[in-house]
Amino acid sequence: MSAATDSPETDVATAVAAAAELLGSARDVTLLAHVQPDADALGSALALGTVLARRGAQVRVSFGSPAGAPESLRPLDALGLLVPPDEVPAAPDLLVMCDTAAVERLGSLADRLAAARASLLIDHHASNPGFGDVQVLDPSAEATAVLVHRVLTAMGAAIDATVGACLYAGLVTDTSGFRRAGPAAHRMAAQLLEAGVDVEAVLRPISDDHPFSWLGALADVLHDARLDPDAAGGLGLVSAVVPVALMERFRVEEVDGVVDLLRTASEADVAVVAKQVGPRRWSLSMRSRTVDVAAAAVALGGGGHPRAAGVTLDGEPAEVLDRLKAVLGR
Ligand code: AMP
Ligand code: MN
Ligand code: MN
Repeated sequence: MSAATDSPETDVATAVAAAAELLGSARDVTLLAHVQPDADALGSALALGTVLARRGAQVRVSFGSPAGAPESLRPLDALGLLVPPDEVPAAPDLLVMCDTAAVERLGSLADRLAAARASLLIDHHASNPGFGDVQVLDPSAEATAVLVHRVLTAMGAAIDATVGACLYAGLVTDTSGFRRAGPAAHRMAAQLLEAGVDVEAVLRPISDDHPFSWLGALADVLHDARLDPDAAGGLGLVSAVVPVALMERFRVEEVDGVVDLLRTASEADVAVVAKQVGPRRWSLSMRSRTVDVAAAAVALGGGGHPRAAGVTLDGEPAEVLDRLKAVLGR
């Protein structure tokens, strides 16, 4: 393992160069974010899509579900590149998958991978097994947006305020407001500000703007939060359940924010929000201070990062949380 060519960093650099070449000659590009897209997934896809569309390529950006993009992320789509999943070609020419930890995270669009003429993965999840012809996969990157920034730089693309806003949105949200951002990510942010990104304008719709009814919905979820000090090997678990009737009182992107409030409970290392996504189906969002929640998620069939992970499980909420506690206690 002494040769520098074996290092993961060199592998990523090689993949970034290959991605830049693939995108540089592309005429028709389909960019996909993961289902229930967040700012990193959609911002990454839209940043690349915007550059490619300006260069004259035929470009579309999409994701498997839900039907429309989260309201708070729509301002990132300056060129109107977003299309519903049924407008994604059955056999895309070049398929680019952004922030997708597993093929299943493409949801109803997962079949496009095998059908594509060529495919490119850009992701930063340690649990990602790797898929696609070219794989820019780097778990040390704080956000997929960091890797997209590297690819765009390798392409010699001009990153202006429009493209920069998409990248900044992914970077700031995936690092929880730069709490988990290294020096290079801060330098990237500085470059984006120099390119004209208006941080206040990017963040207002994403984190600082909610309908008044959100306050009451949030109060109801937090009111019923539970603390289990013995869970997670005695490190403590704080949990909240969001049944479908409560889900309907939130916008999709707002339910995802609940776990970031729960995780502030001092008594718990792990925070989990169980969101109802079907009659007996729950999507679990986990955050932790020290526990490896990605390992717990993977053990249950999901994935993510050591401090932020997710999995979808079937059953009653109490059973589903018990299954999580069982793997957290190991
Ligand atoms: P979330 O709580 O939904 O923000 O997810 C936390 C992290 O886990 C994100 O990086 C997600 O991409 C990842 N994640 C969530 N659900 C899954 C899943 N079912 N499979 C793989 N990764 C997931
Ligand atoms: Mn994501
Ligand atoms: Mn991400």
